[in-house]
Amino acid sequence: MQKKDDFPHDFLPGFQHFATQAIHVGQEPEQWRSQAVVPPISLSTTFKQGAPGQHSGFDYSRSGNPTRNCLEKAVAALDGAKYSLAFASGLAATMTITHLLKAGDQIICMDDVYGGTNRYFSQVASEFGLKISFVDCSKTKLLEAAITPETKLVWLETPTNPILKMIDIEACAHIVHKHGDIILVVDNTFMSAYFQRPLSLGADICMYSATKYMNGHSDVVMGLVSVNSENLHNRLRFLQNSLGAVPSPLDCYLCNRGLKTLQVRMDKHFENGMAVAQFLESNPRVEKVLYPGLPSHPQHELAKRQCTGCPGMISFYIKGSLQHAETFLKSLKIFTLAESLGGFESLAELPAIMTHASVPKNARDVLGISDTLIRLSVGLEDKKDLLEDLDQALKAAVSFLIIIICVCVCLYFNFRSEGHYIDNE
Ligand SMILES: *Cc1c(COP(=O)(O)O)cnc(C)c1O
Repeated sequence: MQKKDDFPHDFLPGFQHFATQAIHVGQEPEQWRSQAVVPPISLSTTFKQGAPGQHSGFDYSRSGNPTRNCLEKAVAALDGAKYSLAFASGLAATMTITHLLKAGDQIICMDDVYGGTNRYFSQVASEFGLKISFVDCSKTKLLEAAITPETKLVWLETPTNPILKMIDIEACAHIVHKHGDIILVVDNTFMSAYFQRPLSLGADICMYSATKYMNGHSDVVMGLVSVNSENLHNRLRFLQNSLGAVPSPLDCYLCNRGLKTLQVRMDKHFENGMAVAQFLESNPRVEKVLYPGLPSHPQHELAKRQCTGCPGMISFYIKGSLQHAETFLKSLKIFTLAESLGGFESLAELPAIMTHASVPKNARDVLGISDTLIRLSVGLEDKKDLLEDLDQALKAAVSFLIIIICVCVCLYFNFRSEGHYIDNE
């Protein structure tokens, strides 16, 4: 086991050479005439040809771009993959993958996926003749029962958002691949390449919203896809060019730069996340904490055997009502009340009203997305400052309750005394 001096844990050992590959693969200075150590941002849309049809690797920037190339090579290395492709957003990657299918094919999608994935499958792809079934794939029997001869794609996300349920990728891959030609996709956004390698667990495609941890600086919207199969790579490369949902060279440059610190960032997200999770779990103002790194998490053992650690994503139920949750969120000073996740800055949000408002109320109830469920993306600030911020906001939420009770009591007695006065009349 790889020893982490300041933060020992019993998850899988880290992937070998990860940081070295993040820093060097695809970045070789020899590929540029200038010998630039940092890849240049190649903005040119077109490239000179020596003779008609004879170019030196690039002809048009949608089809291939030198900066994008550097990023794609680095990502492939980090996923332990042969190939990687970059897209304009996570959803652009999802759309492109879905174009591997044709009308009449069926997609089985984890029921508890990212809202935008659900919306794309159920409101856009379904209009093109694709059949979509939403299934709780954490129960492999349900997954197996949902597979039909038309099934061509199975879409998993682990851990899920915001409940942080873990899916056994290896078990799902085993079932899916018993049934012939089905592509298994894992949305690896929450774990990042540093904590989980879906391809080595049997998935065919590993995809990311790089907008989150992979870029990690909340300044790029991007999608990434890694595969080992040459056939899948060729088809996806064709679709990347044919659909055209490619990222800009500047965004590729930024994401490529973000990868250089992926390991140090994720180690710190894990350390801060664990501290926050433990703090919340021991706090009397908190009902329940959902964090795969805690022994209390129902799939903690799966997390330890599938992942090398946990990111800074934590959900918890605050005691009380919606008003407590709102007062808590408004009282935070270091955590910013905002959607999204995976950046260096700590964020907090209320899924029922923000990220998951589009999920119907009864579906939210089934999933456990109540009005008191709060989601945190724990960033890279000083641990002590984060804990103090959460502590003061939890106290503020309770003080708020006391004020409400006092007001009610006053009103009640006021009412009683008024009533008494009237009686006397
Ligand atoms: C944000 C997100 C997406 C969508 O990615 P965009 O880059 O916003 O298009 C997909 N999956 C997960 C898990 C996400 O968090």
